[in-house]
Amino acid sequence: MGEVNHQALRAQALEELLVEKGLLDPGAVDNIVTLYNERVGPMRGAGLVARAWTEPEFKQALLEDADAAIADYEYEGGEIQKLVVVENTPDVHNVVVCTLCSCYPWAVLGLPPKWYKDPAYRSRVVREPRAVLKEFGTELADDVEVRVWDSSAEVRYLVLPERPQGTEDLDAGDLAELVTRDSMIGVTRLR
Ligand code: FE
Repeated sequence: MGEVNHQALRAQALEELLVEKGLLDPGAVDNIVTLYNERVGPMRGAGLVARAWTEPEFKQALLEDADAAIADYEYEGGEIQKLVVVENTPDVHNVVVCTLCSCYPWAVLGLPPKWYKDPAYRSRVVREPRAVLKEFGTELADDVEVRVWDSSAEVRYLVLPERPQGTEDLDAGDLAELVTRDSMIGVTRLR
């Protein structure tokens, strides 16, 4: 906890110093924060998921080569060297981690949640994924296979959650609103 406050203070002090020295436009920092909070966020991933649910060809393209499938979006926000999309099915549940640090597909999910960077999540989800998932409220039947995907600087993962039942009448726009960040990391399912 002390470390977090320390880092925040350092960041703030650095920002103020750079602004004071005329090296940094204060608006630039606000723009970056706004970019990740409002434009680069889980809504992008949610849009891809909803499109995959409604367009079988797009879904297949996404699973085969996600970078190529989303190239037309020209997402800024970086942190997608190679994106791999893994599909949840009734038999397979996927969950994403970065055991080394906190690699995350920023350009489609925005900023990672704090728990994703927590050493406890990073080590435990590999050793005891079912127990960790249960803490997120995700109880999997014994015959469901759990696959844990370890992200790296080179490869980032996005989980394609199962489409909830009873959503047959919804269009892609409405469906996207049902898709949560955590379901695309794979710690929760959609109901
Ligand atoms: Fe990492």
